[in-house]
Amino acid sequence: MITVTKLTVAYDDLVAVADVSLRVPPGFVLAVSGPSGAGKSSLLWALAGAVRASSGQVEVDGLTISDRPTAAAHGVVLIPQGNGLARVLTARENLSLPLLAQRTDPEAVDRQVEQALADVGLQDSGDHLVEELSGGEQQRVAVARGLAQQGRIILADESTSELDGTNRERVLDLLRREAGRGAAVIMATHDLNVAAGADGHATMDEGHLTWQRRL
Ligand code: ADP
Ligand code: ADP
Repeated sequence: MITVTKLTVAYDDLVAVADVSLRVPPGFVLAVSGPSGAGKSSLLWALAGAVRASSGQVEVDGLTISDRPTAAAHGVVLIPQGNGLARVLTARENLSLPLLAQRTDPEAVDRQVEQALADVGLQDSGDHLVEELSGGEQQRVAVARGLAQQGRIILADESTSELDGTNRERVLDLLRREAGRGAAVIMATHDLNVAAGADGHATMDEGHLTWQRRL
C-alpha cells in the first residue's frame, strides 16, 4: 500500500506537484493522465524518493519514503520516462544490475532476468547492446528491468509511449499481472486509452490531482 499525504514538490518557485493525496492498495492499477508539464513525472519521482518533497509525505506500508535507497528497500520500482537504461550495456546487464545491487542471489537474478525478457518478448535480445535496439525495444527493456525487480510498488512513467498496439497491450497486461500478484501500480500516461484500462483514473493539471474514476 502506498499512501501519499498532501504532497507538494517545488523547484525553486515552480510548484510541480500541489498538495496531492492518494492511496493505492495492493492489487490496484491507478492511471494518472494529464498534459505535458502537469507534474506527473515529478509525482512519480517523489514517490520513488528521487526528488525531495517540499511538504507532505509518502509512505509505503506505513514507512516513510525520503530518499531513493529507502524507496528501493521498501520495494518501490520506478520505470522512468525515456527508459533510463545504460546504452553501452546489454539488455541483460541492464536488468541484472539493480538485482545484483540489491544482493539478490545470482541464480534468482538469472531466473528473474530471463523471465522478464521473455515477458516483454525480448528473450532473444538479451545480448544486444541497448543502443542497438529500436526505441520501442528499449522501452520494453526498461519495462522488463522494472518487472525483474518484483516490486511491491511499481511506478511506470509513460512506459507505453513508443509501443505499437500489440506491445502496448502486452505491457498493460504485464502491469495488471503485477497488480494481480499484489503490487500497487501507478502509471503516468497522456494516453486516455491506456488510462481507461486502469482500475482508477486521476488527472493532473498544473500540479493538482483530480479524480475521474475512483479505485
Ligand atoms: P481522507 O482520509 O481525508 O479521505 P485520503 O488521503 O484518504 O484522505 O484521501 C484524500 C482525498 O483523495 C479524499 O478525497 C479521498 O477520497 C481521495 N482518495 C485517496 N485515495 C484514493 C483512491 N485510491 N481512489 C479514490 N480516491 C482517493
Ligand atoms: P509531466 O511529467 O506531467 O510532463 P513534469 O513533472 O515533468 O510533468 O514537470 C512538471 C513541471 O516541473 C514542468 O513545469 C517542468 O518544466 C518542471 N520541472 C520538471 N523537472 C524539473 C527540474 N528538475 N527543475 C526545474 N523544473 C522542473
